[in-house]
Amino acid sequence: MTPARTPARTPARTPADTAGSTPLIRQYLEIKSRHPDSLLFFRVGDFYEMFFEDAEEGSGLLGLTLTSRNNGGKRDVPLAGVPVKALDEYVSRLIEAGRRVAICEQLEDPAEAQGIVRRDVVEIITPGTVLEDRLLTAKRNNYVVVIAGRAPFGLAIVDLSTGEFELRAVAGEADLRDELGRLEPAEIVVPEESAPPPGAWHLTTRPEWRFDAEQGEERLAAWFGVASSVGFGLDAARDALLLAASGALLAYLEEVRPSGLDHLRPPRVDRAGRVMYLDDMTRRNLELVEPLRPGEGASLLERLDRTRTPMGARLLRRRLLRPLVAADEIRVRLDAVQEFVERPEVRRRVRRALRPIRDLERLAARIATGRAGPRELLGLGLSLDALPGLAAALDGLEAGRLADLRSAFDPLADVAGRVREAIDPDTPHALKDGGVIRRGFSPELDELRGVRGNAVDFIAGMQLRERDRTGIDTLKIGFNKVFGYYLEVTKSKLGRVPEEWTRRQTLTNAERYLTPELKEWEGRVLGADDEIQRLEARLFQSVREEVGAEVGRVQTAAARVAEIDVLACLAEVAEAEDYVRPALTEEVVFDVEEGRHPVVETTVARDTFIPNDMRLDDECRTMIVTGPNMAGKSTVLRQAGLIALMAHIGSFVPARRARIGVCDRVFTRVGASDNLAAGLSTFMVEMTETATILHGASERSLVLLDEIGRGTSTYDGVSIAWAVTERLHEIGARTVFATHYHELVGLAESLPRAAAFNVSVREKGRDIVFLYRLEPGGSDRSYGVHVARLAGLPPDVVGRAARILRVLESGPWGAGGRGAALAEGGMGQLSLFEAAGFPAGQAPPAPGSPGDEDATDLDAARELLERLARLDLDRLTPIEALNTLAEWKAFGDA
Ligand code: ADP
Ligand code: MG
Repeated sequence: MTPARTPARTPARTPADTAGSTPLIRQYLEIKSRHPDSLLFFRVGDFYEMFFEDAEEGSGLLGLTLTSRNNGGKRDVPLAGVPVKALDEYVSRLIEAGRRVAICEQLEDPAEAQGIVRRDVVEIITPGTVLEDRLLTAKRNNYVVVIAGRAPFGLAIVDLSTGEFELRAVAGEADLRDELGRLEPAEIVVPEESAPPPGAWHLTTRPEWRFDAEQGEERLAAWFGVASSVGFGLDAARDALLLAASGALLAYLEEVRPSGLDHLRPPRVDRAGRVMYLDDMTRRNLELVEPLRPGEGASLLERLDRTRTPMGARLLRRRLLRPLVAADEIRVRLDAVQEFVERPEVRRRVRRALRPIRDLERLAARIATGRAGPRELLGLGLSLDALPGLAAALDGLEAGRLADLRSAFDPLADVAGRVREAIDPDTPHALKDGGVIRRGFSPELDELRGVRGNAVDFIAGMQLRERDRTGIDTLKIGFNKVFGYYLEVTKSKLGRVPEEWTRRQTLTNAERYLTPELKEWEGRVLGADDEIQRLEARLFQSVREEVGAEVGRVQTAAARVAEIDVLACLAEVAEAEDYVRPALTEEVVFDVEEGRHPVVETTVARDTFIPNDMRLDDECRTMIVTGPNMAGKSTVLRQAGLIALMAHIGSFVPARRARIGVCDRVFTRVGASDNLAAGLSTFMVEMTETATILHGASERSLVLLDEIGRGTSTYDGVSIAWAVTERLHEIGARTVFATHYHELVGLAESLPRAAAFNVSVREKGRDIVFLYRLEPGGSDRSYGVHVARLAGLPPDVVGRAARILRVLESGPWGAGGRGAALAEGGMGQLSLFEAAGFPAGQAPPAPGSPGDEDATDLDAARELLERLARLDLDRLTPIEALNTLAEWKAFGDA
């Protein structure tokens, strides 16, 4: 669903003054006045009608014909309607368009109503509260997030399609953006007066007074029937914002589902400190749940997701976005995964048992809200039938978590049994099609079916009896919806038709007749049909209610199934992809032997991915990784981040061996030009993000910086990168800095716990071969010229560039010279100029500025060198290169 704000309303044309309108329109206006921000679907007979501006907007969005309706003494009213049968379809389209729809039903039988039929809104469907399957994605949660407060914030997060309810405190604006980025809520509810949260979300505003902590506490207690919210681990003083958000959420749910919501689970309070906070940039740059460029490449989630059930898939996604930070908690998960890895037979049995289990959470929600049809109830039953098999498959497992999951397992045999005995295994989708309730469930129903069957048999028997009696050997008895049962006689036999038959219908070759006897038996069939339908509906509803009453148990079972699914899935991937169990430790270390990038390794040709070792520890906290473009720097850097995060969700990792000290945060930043796709190309953004790392990183953080400083000129870039790295080194965070500025290698020399590495390439004649091997030492050359050749720059230009490069490298500009200058000077840019021969503190002449009287060739040469140094070969197109050369040549000649 595309996030959208509720579009600005067209000027309200709904008249405030109702005098003179018909009673129906008056009733409409009264109800509409209570639901100004929804399209009102007003039930009239077999249609939901929209009036006034709703009709105009709705007909536009749905492609309906706009008509009008008489309104007594007043002007005709615009009208558009949709048939009741097609409600889901139309509502879905409005929700997709970002609208909300209030469903107003007739609350009494029109035949029995005195005067105008009573009507009211029974539910409001919004992007965040839909339960329609077609609007939900199986592998993702559909959240409404209610936000209370203004930094700090209290968040109440609910997925109505599964009943999950969570409370979470968020410190500031930036964290809020990250949190929302991770949840991707379908709808956000905020107080009317507050500034909208960052991001393009579907926003709903509600009055400020609904966000009240005291009221929230009361509502929470009342909703879940407890004495106080303390039972949920909430404290009135400390958690005022969470209580405020809860209150506003529950009020909102009451508003959209006045009939109640039995399947909402008690809130889980998610305290800071248990899970790792993942910011937006890290989530995106590491491509955790979706690739950076949609449609290109794969996410880590895609690689890991071999779950068998939708709840498992959703849980895996949530876990990936909320890694743990406590080593012992992670180990509990790893133990379970390990046992599943070591006992492949058991794992296969478990996964087989998971296969028939459908979306228990969403089925339960649909049943509890009374919207499940017969097939869904049957689906729940069949899913529950699979639970004892799953429990048996878990028998004998020893890992703590698996044993826990097994021991408390509720196979819900009673609920499954109830569905099994009540619902016909061949039930149709729609209740009205009949045959929903299984034979033997209700003696009354079976008897009615018997009566009906006898009547049908009797009518069938009439065909033979009447043939004998009348001698019409072609006589047939048929049935159609318009005329009911009839006797059909071909034209040639019309002479034999008895007088007492009444003709009903003439066809080309035949006539159709009725007889009183036939009518009478037809009456019995149809009467039984009616009663059967009514009885089936009643029985179905009562079974659905019985099952709905057990929704809490179903949800608990669903959560267990999800967890088992995820653990078995991670084991499955670990085995298939040859992952290893990471050793979690409290030391500040990241030591990975033969690590691989879990996604890239599956995209390159089989067995061609080159594994790399990486070690960050007390000796080396900062790795400077240099190497030419395309050498594999970004890959090795992201690989470190992915391995770390996988370990923190309790997954095995792609490596031969891994020892990982728990991280409080993992930061990943990618320099501006590597990140154009995200639309964040400005240097400012890059620096803002870098600033947040410097503020947020601790000694326990893992910081991955890819080409930071690239968004500006070389000097600025190098200087900033230099200073940032120095600070991170001071903090002691494990840091990997990938850069094609080989000048930064000098950092490794100047900082005690930093080391330079390069992703090696080999020169082969005039070409280079990428080896993708991380080796100690800096790369002394950027190989930009080689890459330019690979990219198709004309050979003479490349040749010329190579000669210029040799001149440069032999002068004070040589790699060592520059790095060393930076290392000493601290103020990178000035030192560079000094190295180039400028007196300290004096700015270089601006290119093209009117030269000094005795401008010498040396000045011109300096200027050229200066410009050349500034040239970013990685970004230059062949044409630009040629033009630049032509320009310089002209400059040199002048
Ligand atoms: P850089 O960041 O140095 O420009 P990348 O990390 O983006 O380079 O890698 C460029 C490409 O090289 C990747 O898309 C991948 O196809 C390939 N590559 C990178 N690392 C490896 C590796 N270890 N083994 C095999 N191929 C690799
Ligand atoms: Mg790169």
